[in-house]
Amino acid sequence: PAVIRLRGVSRTYPGPPEVTALRPADLVVARGDYVAVVGPSGSGKSTLLNLLGLLDRPSTGSYDLDGVDVGALAERDRTALRGSRIGFVFQTFHLLPHRTAAENVMLAQVYNGTARARRRPAAVAALSQVGLGHRIDSLPTTLSGGECQRVAIARALVNAPALLLCDEPTGNLDSGNAARLLDLLDALNAGGLTLVVITHAAEVADRAQRVISIKDGTLSKARTREER
Ligand code: ADP
Ligand code: ADP
Repeated sequence: PAVIRLRGVSRTYPGPPEVTALRPADLVVARGDYVAVVGPSGSGKSTLLNLLGLLDRPSTGSYDLDGVDVGALAERDRTALRGSRIGFVFQTFHLLPHRTAAENVMLAQVYNGTARARRRPAAVAALSQVGLGHRIDSLPTTLSGGECQRVAIARALVNAPALLLCDEPTGNLDSGNAARLLDLLDALNAGGLTLVVITHAAEVADRAQRVISIKDGTLSKARTREER
């Protein structure tokens, strides 16, 4: 099945004033796809992200995540599915400052119910995958912003998600670290990982296989590399 299949998904905030933040949208993201959603402030990006990430429910339409109709699920089942199938990467890294890189990654496994003995080896593997094998026991305060975002990506990957959902992943990085972070996302995608990146930055969107624009809550048809 597709990793994401939206059919007629919309979101209206009741207000008052009532705001239609997302107009009925169809979207299919296949396994291994790399999709960017680009649009200005207020266009509906956070609304879409919250829906895709199971943090909010649509006003209309249906959402199949990895073949599961998530609209039919109770909240606790959505929470479990979110933990096991979706990795989140945010603009701010959301790392615990007094926990090491490995401990930060292992927390995602605690919430996901991974057996205690398997956590550290999996965290070490995930940190190695993002090029931080030498920083396993470092505290975030001793890491650069680029390294912190890699820890956050390791944390997002450690439960082997079907989807990596990124919200302005380079928003707090200088241009050099941002470019290296985007190189890492490229490499993860080349390894088969499905990526959805939500951004207002054209240079971030340019890395994706397909770019979808969002304007005033309306999603455009995706443009492929050849069409851009
Ligand atoms: P973006 O992330 O692109 O800045 P948002 O999805 O945050 O866009 O917002 C889209 C529109 O929906 C905006 O007009 C915003 O003010 C409105 N909006 C977003 N969240 C809410 C909410 N919880 N309640 C009411 N209006 C909202
Ligand atoms: P972003 O930087 O991602 O675009 P926003 O500033 O648009 O973030 O929104 C931050 C949070 O506030 C989001 O969770 C969004 O849903 C909520 N929000 C945005 N606009 C409104 C609004 N008019 N009323 C209530 N909540 C809002």
